[in-house]
Amino acid sequence: MSDFILNLVDDEEEDEITNSQLWKVAIVDDEASVHDVTKLALSNTTIQGKKLEFISAYSGEEGFTLLQNNPDCAVVLLDVVMESSDAGLLLAQRIRSELKQTNLQIILRTGQPGYAPEEDIISKYEINDYKTKSELTRDKLFTSLATAIRSFSHLEALESSKEGLRNVINASANLMKERSIHEFASGVLQQINALFNLSAQGIFCVSQRPFKGPHEFKSSTTNSFLVVAATPEYNDIYGKDIHDISSGIAANIAQRALADKKHVLEANFTALYLSTPSKWQGVVVIEGGLNLSEVDEELLKVFCLNIAVGLENAKYFSHLNRSAYYDKLTDLYNREGLVQFSAGINTQADQSVSLYIIDIDYFHDITDSLGYEFSNDVLLAMTSTLKRIFNEKASIARLHSDVFAVLVADSTWTLNNLIAECSRPFMLAGNSMRLGVSLGESHSEAKQENLDIELLLRQAKMALKVAKESKRGMAQAFEPQFEKDTLSRRNILAEFRNALVQEELFLVLQPKTSMSSGDVVGYEALVRWQHPDKGIIPPNAFIPIVEQAGLYFELDMYVFRHSLNIIKNYPQINKPISVNVSANSLHHNEFIDELKAIIKEEQADLTNIELEITENALIRSDMAIQHLNALKDLGFTLCLDDFGAGYSSLAYLVKLPLDVIKIDRAFISYITEDKRSLVLLKGMLQICHDLNKKVVVEGVETQEQVDLLTQYDVDVAQGFFYFKPMSIEDILKKAL
Ligand code: C2E
Ligand code: CA
Ligand code: CA
Repeated sequence: MSDFILNLVDDEEEDEITNSQLWKVAIVDDEASVHDVTKLALSNTTIQGKKLEFISAYSGEEGFTLLQNNPDCAVVLLDVVMESSDAGLLLAQRIRSELKQTNLQIILRTGQPGYAPEEDIISKYEINDYKTKSELTRDKLFTSLATAIRSFSHLEALESSKEGLRNVINASANLMKERSIHEFASGVLQQINALFNLSAQGIFCVSQRPFKGPHEFKSSTTNSFLVVAATPEYNDIYGKDIHDISSGIAANIAQRALADKKHVLEANFTALYLSTPSKWQGVVVIEGGLNLSEVDEELLKVFCLNIAVGLENAKYFSHLNRSAYYDKLTDLYNREGLVQFSAGINTQADQSVSLYIIDIDYFHDITDSLGYEFSNDVLLAMTSTLKRIFNEKASIARLHSDVFAVLVADSTWTLNNLIAECSRPFMLAGNSMRLGVSLGESHSEAKQENLDIELLLRQAKMALKVAKESKRGMAQAFEPQFEKDTLSRRNILAEFRNALVQEELFLVLQPKTSMSSGDVVGYEALVRWQHPDKGIIPPNAFIPIVEQAGLYFELDMYVFRHSLNIIKNYPQINKPISVNVSANSLHHNEFIDELKAIIKEEQADLTNIELEITENALIRSDMAIQHLNALKDLGFTLCLDDFGAGYSSLAYLVKLPLDVIKIDRAFISYITEDKRSLVLLKGMLQICHDLNKKVVVEGVETQEQVDLLTQYDVDVAQGFFYFKPMSIEDILKKAL
């Protein structure tokens, strides 16, 4: 018989049969014949399309090891009496408690016919069936094995669906990282489909936050439920309020679930109702019914709770994300956002990544003179301009106030074209407006795995600084030299403070000439820095740095005091000296008081002192206008410097107590080449004369310019054609 049994399983066939095509059945019995009989009885049997594989053990102890090594075993036929009278029962207990094989079906077999285990034993050891050994007939054995295997496979299926559910819950942990509610909700729809083996269409809608809280959403109304995700079939209702949708079963079911605050489970539709601890509500509607017999309802509850919590997180996240990475006013990225999402642009790039920093010229003047609302509109206009210019291979950000940045993959822009595009006129509040911009550029040399966005930002900023210093409305690409310049910039500042104390700054005077008589009629005081090691440093090399560092006030007071000293100590000069006042000083709270204090200390006569104030400084604030009036009252002659260079604000000529208008050098340098400059100059001169203002033109360098200017009735000229700035000694020597 044993030969026969050995031959039951064909060796060749065995190779082809994998474990998953077999049901493993364990026989644990101390009587060898029981093993043989059982195998013989069930040879060639298939249950649910699978053959049986028998494994054997001959004692309770052996049985334990056998089952431990075969966790996929489906059924054990277990003898009660073996090495001890309850060895089988003991093994049953260990199978459940130690091996935790809860799906394994235990069929207990007893020796005595008519013996049935106690009810409490059956339930205690979770014994699934019992048979007497006399019932080892093929039919009876087959029936109970088939039942056991069916139970086993059900349990396994449930286990795997529980496993699936667990996967979904794990996956929803990933979902929690989703940035937007939309992404979260779309993820949930996908996962429900995966979980219930559907490929159903559906929607996910969610309440706007019903209660007031710190993270309220825009346009929040208490009863609106927006469709935040939809499969393609429901695209037409995506983004709508579910209560505004009158037709369609999906909307109807969603409304019902929300009204009753519970799931609606129908044969063809399922609505899962979600509510979160903070009373946000949502509903997921999918086509098709859920076969809940396979998945226990408890777990469905857990699943819904999970989505709800994920939803809460997503809302919270997306709010935090927005404010962490987006600029509230323009909805562009902020600096953080630009940095955070720069990798995306980098991966899109085939060649290089360029960063442009764009700064609106004279933005503070716009804010001061036209108000915040208007200047916000200007920023929004700039935002649209940038969105128009750059395509999707670019990230646009507002870094702060009027400074924008654009990160572009494989940019084909030239800096000049970009400047031109950025400053194209646009309509604002019914008026055509044109913004001047300055631009700094930096780029990554070649495609890099990791983009050093901070480096690019730093370099573009340095380039922007250079652009702004050379002249507003300029674009500048980063050059390695700038890095060294920044370093020297820091040195300059440290040394400048020292220079003020050590009196290393001195004044030169540039004469102003009457165009009609050719006489010197006054001087402009221009500061120079006698550096102990570097020699004489011109103002353009340090004044912008000093202004940025906020040291302009100290400088202006220094120059003012020294100009008073020149007047006092050199009575021979006896002509007005004009002192430059930096744009920022005029806004300084203590400006007037400090001037008065210096005047008192130096016991100075102000008749020969003029103040030159640049035009853009004037329009900035009411304080500036007050200060101008106060200066006028003190007896200063006031000169508007660099007229025509920045904002041309003819209105100020009327409004402000100005005596002299100094026309910007740029105008004069163009007049011989460009007819339009000449026309403009003519207009300006006319207006100044009509308003009774004296006119000084600066930067006169050639005879040609002089010839032209004399035709136009200019009072006073200043420039290299007549004199360069000179030391006091030279002026005294020449007796000018
Ligand atoms: P600014 O007030 O427009 O001064 C005129 C500048 O033009 C001076 O340069 C002067 O040397 C230069 N200049 C005069 N005639 C000609 C000309 O015919 N051709 C050319 N190409 N240039 C001419 P500087 O001394 O280098 O001063 C540059 C700027 O630095 C000044 O422009 C002013 O904004 C500032 N600055 C100079 N000294 C002081 C000062 O004491 N205090 C303040 N706050 N700023 C000063
Ligand atoms: Ca000046
Ligand atoms: Ca000037």
